[in-house]
Amino acid sequence: MTTSSSLASRARVRAQMERLFPLCRSITGAGVRETLAVVGESIPVRVHEVASGTQAFDWTVNDEWNVRDAYVARDGARVVDFREHNLHLVSYSEPVRASLTLDELRPHLFSLPDRPDWIPYRTSYYQRGWGFCMRHSDLERLEEGTYDVVVDTSLEPGSMTYGEVYLPGEVDDEVLLSAHVCHPSLANDNLSGIAVATEVFRALGNRRHRLSYRLLLAPGTVGSVLWLSRNEGVLGRIRHGLVLTGLGGPGPLTYKRTRHGHRSLDAAMIRVLQRYAGEVRDYSPYGYDERQFGALGFDLAVGRLSRTPHGEYPEYHTSADDLTLVEDDRLEEAVEALLETIDQLEGDVAYRNLSPYGEPQLGRHGLYPSMGGQAATDEVMSMLWLLGLSDGATGLLGIAERSGVPIEQLRGSAERLAAAGLLHPEW
Ligand code: ZN
Repeated sequence: MTTSSSLASRARVRAQMERLFPLCRSITGAGVRETLAVVGESIPVRVHEVASGTQAFDWTVNDEWNVRDAYVARDGARVVDFREHNLHLVSYSEPVRASLTLDELRPHLFSLPDRPDWIPYRTSYYQRGWGFCMRHSDLERLEEGTYDVVVDTSLEPGSMTYGEVYLPGEVDDEVLLSAHVCHPSLANDNLSGIAVATEVFRALGNRRHRLSYRLLLAPGTVGSVLWLSRNEGVLGRIRHGLVLTGLGGPGPLTYKRTRHGHRSLDAAMIRVLQRYAGEVRDYSPYGYDERQFGALGFDLAVGRLSRTPHGEYPEYHTSADDLTLVEDDRLEEAVEALLETIDQLEGDVAYRNLSPYGEPQLGRHGLYPSMGGQAATDEVMSMLWLLGLSDGATGLLGIAERSGVPIEQLRGSAERLAAAGLLHPEW
């Protein structure tokens, strides 16, 4: 059903993506700041700047990169032009002014022979150099001769920028959502995550919520590691986290489980995605920033929501990932699925087993059912699952998913175990 509020939501999401699309984002620089300013018109974004050279665990904040202009020209006519498409310039290209023969130029040119009309997306964050990305059809048309190369960029100490939105709830326990903000004109891989997250936070701002919500809009990898390095005090409050990316492109909603595999977030997403004919995948160490949040040292229960994941659709990291690849109804479905997941998490509770050194004597605590039969067995199993998995981080939703015990039964058993002093509600 399409309501007027859903039409308004679609129009907002589309308008935001259209404004963000042309901006030249990278892991640092003006494009990220402009992006956060646009998002800040819809939700309260706090912008952070961290100086180049700042250490964040094994990473160092990069020099800041900005582009004024970049092109390759022959006889005054531009044959590759950053102003025509910002994917034409390899991100983090260092400044260059040179006259080169075609043979000298070729090692700096990148194209996709299999997709001759698409411009590839390339970066060079950690190796100084420069390059241009072209349609292969244009590359093949280049003739022998001398070319003028101008890369009018700056690559020097400055800062890395990230944005944060925090919506306090009735309790400090948090849900963290995150989307990367470091890709230039790519719509599905990057902008869809930002746009969906903005709409979810706008909705959360208009409703009561028990949990607190935090949105991180940071450059991929180094940006999230940087945030983690500066927010040690927050990490202990994060109960669930979701990385959002690729939500408007092809394929069904696809959830990647947390490293733990059976946390409440996993259970909530699985329940919700059943309604959307979604797909659930197991944890793998590769991917987006769930790699950082879920790393052993932080151990956060962070999954990822996308559609067809990165690298599995041909338009990925090319100019064909444009605004036509991203469809309004898919973005809207992602927003709805996230709000439904949040509803599930809002009602969840996690206990800690206060008697974890072997199984407690349930009979001594008056918990061993005196009647026989299936109901007694079910109740004992429900208690054993709760005692087995209540580590203070795994909520009832997660235990229900892993055990197959209905959540209502778990809820009743947990209350009885808590009354007997064997479980303590942690959050
Ligand atoms: Zn990407």
